[in-house]
Amino acid sequence: MTDDSGHTMNKAPDRPRESMCVYAPMDAAERKSATAGRHTGIQQRACFPVRLRLILAFAAIFVYCAGVTLWTIYVLPAVHHKIRFLELADAYRHETAQMRRFEKNYFLYGTHLRDALLHTQKARSILSDNEADILKVMSRGRLTAMQKSLASYAAGLQKLAGGHSPEVRAEVQHRLRKYGHRLTADADAFSIQERRALDRTFSLLRTGPLILLAVLMIILFAAAWHINRKIVTALGRLTDFTERIAAGDYTRITFKKTRRDEFTQLATAMNQMIDEIEKRQEILVQSHKIRAIGNLVAGVAHELNNPLNNILLTAVSLQENYADLPPAEALEMLADIVGETERSREIVRNLLDFARQREREIKRLDLGEMLGRAIRLVSSQARMSKIRIETCIPDNLPPVHSDRQLLIQLFVNLLLNAVDALSQNAHGRIAVTVDAPTQAEYVAVSITDNGPGIPRRLQDRIFDPFFTTKPEGRGTGLGLSVSRNIIEQLGGFMRVESEVGKGATFTVYLPVTRVPH
Ligand code: ADP
Repeated sequence: MTDDSGHTMNKAPDRPRESMCVYAPMDAAERKSATAGRHTGIQQRACFPVRLRLILAFAAIFVYCAGVTLWTIYVLPAVHHKIRFLELADAYRHETAQMRRFEKNYFLYGTHLRDALLHTQKARSILSDNEADILKVMSRGRLTAMQKSLASYAAGLQKLAGGHSPEVRAEVQHRLRKYGHRLTADADAFSIQERRALDRTFSLLRTGPLILLAVLMIILFAAAWHINRKIVTALGRLTDFTERIAAGDYTRITFKKTRRDEFTQLATAMNQMIDEIEKRQEILVQSHKIRAIGNLVAGVAHELNNPLNNILLTAVSLQENYADLPPAEALEMLADIVGETERSREIVRNLLDFARQREREIKRLDLGEMLGRAIRLVSSQARMSKIRIETCIPDNLPPVHSDRQLLIQLFVNLLLNAVDALSQNAHGRIAVTVDAPTQAEYVAVSITDNGPGIPRRLQDRIFDPFFTTKPEGRGTGLGLSVSRNIIEQLGGFMRVESEVGKGATFTVYLPVTRVPH
């Protein structure tokens, strides 16, 4: 399973599961070397921390806001110039209109020539006094053309003032009309054009902020989406992963990301933490195993007593009566000695086999055989306490994948607990049954005793490390917690059912192997 942040996580088994289980656990050594490889690999990747990404995202937003502010600072003075220019254009238009009005009066009634000249002068002054402002909005060529037209118009008026013949008057009138018409048309066009430009600027000022706001929203949404995807989702996955660790699934986080960041560092640290947890659990499992061996040794010593006594008695009898015994009988006695010695050797070998420390090796195992070995190991202990062990283990059980010693230790722990619970019971009985429906994903091994049972309020607590109801020196409180840990490592789970006074049943669910072999 791969998350958004690029972490690959193997799913821990839900328990109990409805669907068919396909389970091929990695052993500890494999997982360790895979983790070490990944750690070195991840350190070599380019680093692109989340902090840097956040800084970049906020820097982008800052640059954008600064750009918008600068744009506003630039646009507002431009608007101011346009308004100022419009005022000038209106004044200029007014002067040209007056100048034309008085010019017409002059040709109609022979009056107001001086007024016409005065307004022409005023119009020229507007252009020359505000040249700098006008040039901000208009090209120099156009301004010069207007100034030239005004100068020609003024020259025409002055010519009329200096006296003239009717032909000159007609010629000047024609010229004045031509320039006058051009001047008013220019003034109108100019004013209208600038008013339109100002309208456009105002409408830009109205819609501009909306567009800028929309772009800012997009940037913010993109940043929020990125933060959600890269940070919140990754955090969620890591939380999910810690829950898996708490549930006993120690599959390491693998990295699909191409770059290093805080999350890959956290994932690396979590993988190292899992290594540590596994190491410590290994120590716990071993120390509890040593304790179990201590318990078994007492039973084994007791068990060895019988064959050793038999050997001794037979050997002494053989020694004393050697001369009188017929050879066939002597041979029979020797065969007894050999048989008893082999029995003793088998008892000791079984214990040694369990006690020997081996490298973990997950392989396909015969569940029936593993149960048989565990039962043989505790049988001496059971016999000492006069406890009967009954078994109902069908042939052709589906194979399971596990470490041999871990699996035996798991069953030994549960059987020794049952033996302990029955130590005061005159009719102690332990039943070991296996239930393996053909299509089921788990095979269920139940160990039932008819001991005192476990009160309901304690049933959840008995799996806690160091929880024990046994007297000081007898119980460590680690048996069930180590057993649960072992079974979770194997991809299974365990249930307890018990009624006070009627006994207890511990059922171990082991995943059935369905991988090709
Ligand atoms: P320990 O055996 O050292 O006490 P365990 O973790 O194996 O530690 O067991 C915890 C407790 O669970 C025991 O002290 C006992 O009270 C209870 N328990 C375990 N198995 C049985 C059982 N078969 N019958 C009754 N109680 C049991």
